[in-house]
Amino acid sequence: MRELFPRLFSLSRKKGNCISDFVINASFPINWDFGFRRNLTEAEIAEVVLLLDVLREIRISHTRADKRIWELEDHGLFSCKSFRSLILSNSTRDDFSLFVSIWKAKTPSKVKFLLWLIANGKVNTCDRIQRRNLIMCLSPYWCVLCKSCTESIDHLFIHCSYSISLWWKLLSEIGVIWVTPKGCFQLLSTKLTVSGKGKRVRTLWDCLVHAMFWNLWMERNRRIFQEYAGATSEELWDRVKFWASVTGHFKDYHYSIILRDFSAVLR
Ligand SMILES: [Zn+2]
Repeated sequence: MRELFPRLFSLSRKKGNCISDFVINASFPINWDFGFRRNLTEAEIAEVVLLLDVLREIRISHTRADKRIWELEDHGLFSCKSFRSLILSNSTRDDFSLFVSIWKAKTPSKVKFLLWLIANGKVNTCDRIQRRNLIMCLSPYWCVLCKSCTESIDHLFIHCSYSISLWWKLLSEIGVIWVTPKGCFQLLSTKLTVSGKGKRVRTLWDCLVHAMFWNLWMERNRRIFQEYAGATSEELWDRVKFWASVTGHFKDYHYSIILRDFSAVLR
C-alpha cells in the first residue's frame, strides 16, 4: 500500500498492522477496512477502487498464522545477505561502488567511517541538529568556517568559501578542471582520471580526498569545541598533505617534496 498508493497509506491509521487487521470478513468476497482517518475525496476514492482491484485476487488462509515472511530465505527470516543479493540482481553494481571504494581506501577506520556518514548524509551538522531539536535554538546557527551561511553537510565540506578553496588547491595540483558538484555524494561518486602510476595513484588520490574531509571536520570541531582561532586555508592545505604523507603510501617521498611539488609525487 505504501509503495503503490502512498497517499492512501498516509491516511490509514493502521500503518504498522498485520493483514488480518484490515480484513472484516475473510471469506470470499473479502471486506476490507483500511482505517482511513477522514472521509475520502473523489480522487482518493478513485485510488481505493484501484487498490481493491489489486486486492481482488487475494485469498485469506484460515489455517496459517498471519505473520511476516522473508521469501528470499528458506527459514523466512530477513538477512542482509539475501537483501544485498536482491539489490545487486535488480541494479548495477555502481549503487555500491562508492561505499566499496570508501571502505577499501588505505586510511584509518575512523576516517572511513566519517566518509561513510558523509556519503549517507548523516553527519551531525547544525542543520540536522536543529531539525531534531525544534524547541532548542542553536546559536550561532552558521558555519564556523566562513561564519556566514547555514551549516549543512554539503556546505561545510564543499560549498563553503573556506572548503572550496582547498578543493581548488587539490585539483589545480593535478591539473583537473572541475565543476563544483551538487553535494558530497556526487563528489565522492565522481571518478576522476588522475594520470600517473595506475593503482598506486588511485590509492594516493583516495587518501588525499579522505584527508581533505577529515581535516575539514577536525578544523570545524576545534573551532567549535576548543579555544582555537582557526587555521588559514593555506595552513590546512599543508596539514592535508602532511596527513596524507604519513599514511604510508607517501613514505618514499620527503615531506618537503610533497609540499613543494605535489604532482611529482603522483606521477
Ligand atoms: Zn561556511
